[in-house]
Amino acid sequence: MEFVVLIVLGLCAGSFANAAIWRIHEQSKLKSKKPANWSADQRMKTENLSVLRGRSMCPNCKHQLAAKDLVPVLSWVSLGGKCRYCKKPISIQYPLVEITGALLFLASYIWWPFGLSGFVDYARFGIWLVVLTGLLILFIYDLKWLILPDAVTLPLIALVVFEIAFRGIFQEGPEAVRGAILGMLTIGGFFYVLFVVSKGKWIGGGDVKLGILLGLLLGWPAALVGMAIGFYSATIIVIVLMLLRVVKRSQHIPFGPFLIVGAIIAMLFSEQIIGLYYELLLY
Ligand SMILES: [Zn+2]
Repeated sequence: MEFVVLIVLGLCAGSFANAAIWRIHEQSKLKSKKPANWSADQRMKTENLSVLRGRSMCPNCKHQLAAKDLVPVLSWVSLGGKCRYCKKPISIQYPLVEITGALLFLASYIWWPFGLSGFVDYARFGIWLVVLTGLLILFIYDLKWLILPDAVTLPLIALVVFEIAFRGIFQEGPEAVRGAILGMLTIGGFFYVLFVVSKGKWIGGGDVKLGILLGLLLGWPAALVGMAIGFYSATIIVIVLMLLRVVKRSQHIPFGPFLIVGAIIAMLFSEQIIGLYYELLLY
């Protein structure tokens, strides 16, 4: 029963992430024009693009979507991947992100390493699911447009800080805060140094904020595991893509998605990975 609930929640989170990705991007396009020059139509559009309020619409024809168009995965499949109203193809990104949301929620529940008894544990798990949804948004956004929007990162940092304080007061004591700060310095601090040294060329300001978020979230030593997975996987994949001539040397490749994958793995499996590392080291 829990599994069904988590799959449904994950599908909805994925669906929300899809809508948020598109709306935040549309908003950023609108905002690139000065508000003084906005037409009434544009003002109305910005209102409709609110991530939490506006109604869902087709990205192409802007037709408002009915409930039957909004069922995760099933709507896309039953419509053959096309808009019901304008028949334009709808990106496969939509069902893929929804399925990924469901799988991540389910995996988090199955492999949750922190125990699930009492309200502090449940708060931590619930906040993790919210953060996971945000990470899904950031992953796609960075992949598509090479930007990690503050509109997502900053509220998540605030939420995670709140969770750490909550856990510190009611469960772990000062250890929760110490671990989080050390984690934040590990990823955020390292990225900040890279950002300053390269004058923003290797790594953007958005990456530094993402590093702060993930460092706080993972704490020590999981932050180190997450960053290592991010760096190794990025290096391997970039080399493979260069050898296959899919990307050029000069091309900008977003680092955010790699770090996000590393962080999700580290959140759930850092203990096993550290154990394995020591085992390999001993033999
Ligand atoms: Zn349409």
